[in-house]
Amino acid sequence: MSLSPAMQNYKDMKAKNKDYLLFYRLGDFYEMFFDDAIIASRELDITLTKKDCGDKQKAPMCGVPYHSVDTYISRLVQKGYKVSICEQVKNDKNEVVDRKIVRTITPGTVTDPQMLDEKTNNYIVGIFVDSSTDEMIFIFADISTGEVIVSEKYQKNDSNAVGEFSKYSPREAYSNVPLKSLPFLKNYFNDGSNSRIFTEGDPDDFNIEKARTEVSKHLGNKYENYGFSDDISINCFGALLSYLNRTQLCDLSHLKNIQFENKIDFMDLDYFTWRNLEVTETMRNKAKRGSLLGVIDKTVTAMGARKIRKFLERPLINIPEILRRQNAVSDFYNKTIERRELRDLFSSVRDIERLSSKLVYDTINPRDMRALASSFEVFPKIKNLLSGFDSDYISDIYGNFDTLDDLYLLIDSAIEEDPPVTTREGKVIKPKYNDKLLELVSFLKGNQKIIPDIEAREKAKTGIKTLKIGYNKVYGYYIEVSKLFANQVPDYYIRKQTLVNGERFITAELKDLETKLLTASETVITLENEIYSEIKTKLFDSISRIRNAAENIALLDTFASLAEVAQKNSYTCPEIIPSGVVDIENGRHPVVEEMVKDEVFIPNNTFLNTSTDMIALITGPNMSGKSTYMRQVALIVLLAQIGSFVPSSHAKIGIVDKIFTRVGASDDLTSGQSTFMVEMNEVSYILKNATSDSLLIFDEIGRGTSTYDGMSIAQAVIEYVAKKIKAKSLFATHYHELISLENELTCLKNFNIVAKRKNNEITFLRKIVPGGTDDSFGIDVAKLAGLPSSVISRAEDILKDLDSGKVYLSEPSPRQEQKEDDSQVSFSQNFNEKIIDELLNLDVTVLTPIEAMNELFRLSNEVKKNNV
Ligand code: ATP
Repeated sequence: MSLSPAMQNYKDMKAKNKDYLLFYRLGDFYEMFFDDAIIASRELDITLTKKDCGDKQKAPMCGVPYHSVDTYISRLVQKGYKVSICEQVKNDKNEVVDRKIVRTITPGTVTDPQMLDEKTNNYIVGIFVDSSTDEMIFIFADISTGEVIVSEKYQKNDSNAVGEFSKYSPREAYSNVPLKSLPFLKNYFNDGSNSRIFTEGDPDDFNIEKARTEVSKHLGNKYENYGFSDDISINCFGALLSYLNRTQLCDLSHLKNIQFENKIDFMDLDYFTWRNLEVTETMRNKAKRGSLLGVIDKTVTAMGARKIRKFLERPLINIPEILRRQNAVSDFYNKTIERRELRDLFSSVRDIERLSSKLVYDTINPRDMRALASSFEVFPKIKNLLSGFDSDYISDIYGNFDTLDDLYLLIDSAIEEDPPVTTREGKVIKPKYNDKLLELVSFLKGNQKIIPDIEAREKAKTGIKTLKIGYNKVYGYYIEVSKLFANQVPDYYIRKQTLVNGERFITAELKDLETKLLTASETVITLENEIYSEIKTKLFDSISRIRNAAENIALLDTFASLAEVAQKNSYTCPEIIPSGVVDIENGRHPVVEEMVKDEVFIPNNTFLNTSTDMIALITGPNMSGKSTYMRQVALIVLLAQIGSFVPSSHAKIGIVDKIFTRVGASDDLTSGQSTFMVEMNEVSYILKNATSDSLLIFDEIGRGTSTYDGMSIAQAVIEYVAKKIKAKSLFATHYHELISLENELTCLKNFNIVAKRKNNEITFLRKIVPGGTDDSFGIDVAKLAGLPSSVISRAEDILKDLDSGKVYLSEPSPRQEQKEDDSQVSFSQNFNEKIIDELLNLDVTVLTPIEAMNELFRLSNEVKKNNV
């Protein structure tokens, strides 16, 4: 037995598309066979059947109707599958002459707005690791919007590169090396959701000559002008283009909105900071609600939502640019009425950016066209409202705001108000749009009225009261007469069908009419399709105008949203200065202030500069609000540098080049790192990368090790920041011993957050005041958390003993464990040991005389200070 021709053809196609689920068009269905069918029936919960395929065994098969294919594809792609669509190619006589793959859809190349989250970009990332230089680069492309982001170069396996992934969340990677060579990405791609896929690409695509050809085909010979000046970026982009061209089979010329990530132009937020500050999602459950974005995103359009997120991804450091945005926000802030009207109008604007990419993919349907039209319809009103705005940014947008009147008129005059989804059955084009169409449609309508006339006439002529005219696909128009009267029909009735109760006849007149009507209906559909294609071409030719309008709407919506939030949440416009000072009066945490329900949020001041107030050392009880306070400073700076207003009564912000945070402790067990190791990695990264223009936030250092190790590290880090980096820093600690540093470091000031104990109850005042505190209220907080009362009272006893210096229950460090069997060591024993250890580790022979003096001075000081 041999395979049937269709099955053979299917197998050939499948062989060329092994990694894809092949949707094979057969009539009105897309069918899947063999393993694909088994997978699809399981994932889509559709019936698995069997088909005779000419072979001994029947082929497992399942199928989905062509008109609802999008939802099925969407579900498979969501689950991380790649899908290929194989269509029938028909000739003029509607006969299938060939089949070909028309497109493939993968998680990173989805373009249908219905399949996408409208508020986020959908990126595919090209990954290229240069084996000769050990450098790597990433290029993120969103083919639904045309955006391309080229990352900076990283050293191979620099785990900080994962920050790019958390920022852009690509759903698919095309790489020249396997995933196992990129250990820092393992967790990202194997996060258990299966919705992200990693493909080790065809090595041919990463050949530099081929890549160069691809890039120049795409961008022209002068591709350096776009920023592609070195082999590594050309190699990566060229390979990505090869992959996309091969799989998308359509014009990708819109993929030209290229931006090079240049940390020099933007504030640098590393991965840890991005995560710790919960800029776009919360750490705990990755939700937008509870993040900064959740508070400031009050945009109305999908394009605005994506734009405001991009603002956060790249805070600015260039003052004129920040002020340009700030003035735009002020403009919206002051014009409350216009803002409300504009936001109302924005709500009529659909995702025209992504709809325009459906033009590129030639997948735009009549309803999408109406969505474009209803969006364009409000453009003149939007432009009109902008005429009263005076900031430079909005005036510029006003100046280049193309209201796309011609495109609106084109769609509105041509496409029916409520058209069907496809053009297959006609009724998409308004007859008035085209004379020939109008003529045909009128003819069809006129003739449809003839049928009842003929029916009445024939009834009268034959005297058969039950005579009626009907229509079906097999016989066309027929006259039906009940059995009783069948012998009364005239000679010119031609019998066609016998039913249980009646007979069906046709007549020459009906046949003639039918042919005319059928021909006319077919011509209508052909003509409608021609007109539809013409409109698509016209819109396609204007695609850059549509994208430009989308960008304008995105910006306006973003500024309006920032202004809306500023007014609702009582933010003020910060003063932006070159650098040096962060001066915040009555600052608030933008997210926590919305979350605290039972209490009012207590505002606090902050003053940091690069001399006397460089480091704020914050002590205070657990739960008093230290983390909240420090994060609020970082978030206020961040908001200021995206051009937003900020939650404070007044703020003066000197430009910050990078924000670093070390907040909390989290075990990264999947990467095999302990809490303490993760913490030290973060600290090490900060100390290596911070500059004097950076803002550093340290929420506890050294908590995950023994007290003395931890405290020593904390102090050494503070000293390093004070003397070497000279960066404005906020440092929270429970090591109240560190408050004595204020005496030694002129740039450090102590602060504490006040809490009061009254009648054994703790009250948090949430107010930050100068000076240190040595009370952690830890046991009070433990009590609040409901620890058993016996544990609490025992802890209180131990604390009393410790306070009186009687006994010290050590947290044994590995070093102590080796040397001491007895776990009870006195404070002085510990301290002595530390000093002895330091002396043992000191190699006097390599020190200069001055260094030796300094060491001696430091050690003697420490001994004196601790009075041992
Ligand atoms: P720990 O030392 O235990 O980590 P913490 O001092 O860092 O605690 P936070 O986590 O910042 O304390 O704050 C604890 C809670 O206090 C917050 O979740 C918030 O509900 C509330 N809070 C913090 N700051 C304020 C404020 N200024 N006004 C009102 N409530 C606040």
